[in-house]
Amino acid sequence: MELCTLTAHELLEKINKKEISFADILRSLQDRIKQVDPKVKAYVRVDGRNENNENGSCRDRFETCPYKGEQTSQSGFLKGLPISLKDNICTEGLNTECCSRILAGFKPPYDATVVKKLKEAGGAIFGLKTNMDEFAFGSSCENSAFGPTCNPWDIERVPGGSSGGSAAAVAADEAIWALGSDTGGSIRQPASFCGVVGLKPTYGRVSRFGLIAFASSLDQIGPFTKDVADSALLMKAIAGHDPSDSTSLDAPVPDYTASLTGDIKGLKIGVPKEYFSQGLDAEVKAIIDAAADKLRNLGAILTEVSLPHTEYAVPVYYIVATAEASSNLARFDGVQYGFRGLEGRNLIDMYMRTRGEAFGQEAKRRILLGTFVLSHGYYDAYYLRAQKVRTLIKKDFDDVFKQVDCLITPVSPTPAFKLGERVEDPLKMYLSDICTISANLAGVPAISLPCGFTKDGLPVGLQIMARPFAEETIFRAAHAYEQSTDWHKRRAKL
Ligand code: GLN
Repeated sequence: MELCTLTAHELLEKINKKEISFADILRSLQDRIKQVDPKVKAYVRVDGRNENNENGSCRDRFETCPYKGEQTSQSGFLKGLPISLKDNICTEGLNTECCSRILAGFKPPYDATVVKKLKEAGGAIFGLKTNMDEFAFGSSCENSAFGPTCNPWDIERVPGGSSGGSAAAVAADEAIWALGSDTGGSIRQPASFCGVVGLKPTYGRVSRFGLIAFASSLDQIGPFTKDVADSALLMKAIAGHDPSDSTSLDAPVPDYTASLTGDIKGLKIGVPKEYFSQGLDAEVKAIIDAAADKLRNLGAILTEVSLPHTEYAVPVYYIVATAEASSNLARFDGVQYGFRGLEGRNLIDMYMRTRGEAFGQEAKRRILLGTFVLSHGYYDAYYLRAQKVRTLIKKDFDDVFKQVDCLITPVSPTPAFKLGERVEDPLKMYLSDICTISANLAGVPAISLPCGFTKDGLPVGLQIMARPFAEETIFRAAHAYEQSTDWHKRRAKL
């Protein structure tokens, strides 16, 4: 059995029994990356340096990147297990570029808080950086300056986005587990498309310090794993208060693993009718319905509920998120770091050349949209109104969680689509985020876990959402469901 196919908790058990060493795990991962990454293209960097420099392929270089035991404290509970990171999570001295030309060569002078916490817990960070849509703008991983990642289940299809590289790396056993970020679905949708577990924690549960910002009121970092137990374990390592992120909650982190009881008798689950309306693929609907039946058989009490403002989520999100993005991206000007355009005639000209040449099309579209909705004369009509509707969307969740403990919905209206199918049609791409973005607007936690496959062999994810800071409820329900199925054990043939 290949070690790279195991979950983190299975590997930890073997390490603790001294059956294997972390060098064995590393060797297995190296071989796997070399074998399948040329097809999947989940990684943009494996040792902190870019692929297209004089040293040849990034996949080969991982082999020459010696395991540095001193990088980690192997006494921590993660025992030196390697973890892969989305390219927007800062790692001290190791390139972090958001898969954008404008950040080419950027080596952060500090670690993101999640990276610091992982190191303290004994996790190993090598600079294994995964592909993403530029600045996390997208749902397909096709907006990356490095080119797209392919879905391990069908390499002609997208892995989802924006954290497509992290999802594909875990699905293809090129990573034990990985971190991504989710602003409107960027962990859950790729997890669903690739058949792995992806959690967006409650806004404020995980520090955003060192996450290169897309939309600061929506962004959260979260885990991609092969099962629910690993998701709980990784949350133990990364969650918690951080004085460097004033929006992180100052409250103790529960023992998430303790919530994996397998017992959901009497758990009240709501099924919001708005998520099952037009546009939902018939096969996806049948698979989600079957998952609902399974939960009922396990003893949960299911009722239909309503989140009446769901239809406004997409327009509200694409106003709020682009407004924040346009403001966050204003700092990339070519002066201190990253790419600089050919010398301009004056400072403004230099800014224009830098930003004009280095931002991709989708980044430019979002900067323009966001600048527009914030501009004088339009602010009240768009941005302010969107904020008001956001409050109504949040209230929908407050109301519904008075009746039920959690909600189940599809993650995406369709399974993974073909590469190139939607990238020229931004509106179509945006509309496919309908099931995931409300959780970000309301700040509630949400998971995607494998719940079946289409006739074409494409994975489908089930979304479970809960009250703010009730990740334990999500883990309890997700684990009970998972343990009664074997969807999470299936592997893509590569
Ligand atoms: N697909 C959404 C967007 O393009 C969400 C992206 C994300 O969560 N980072 O904005």
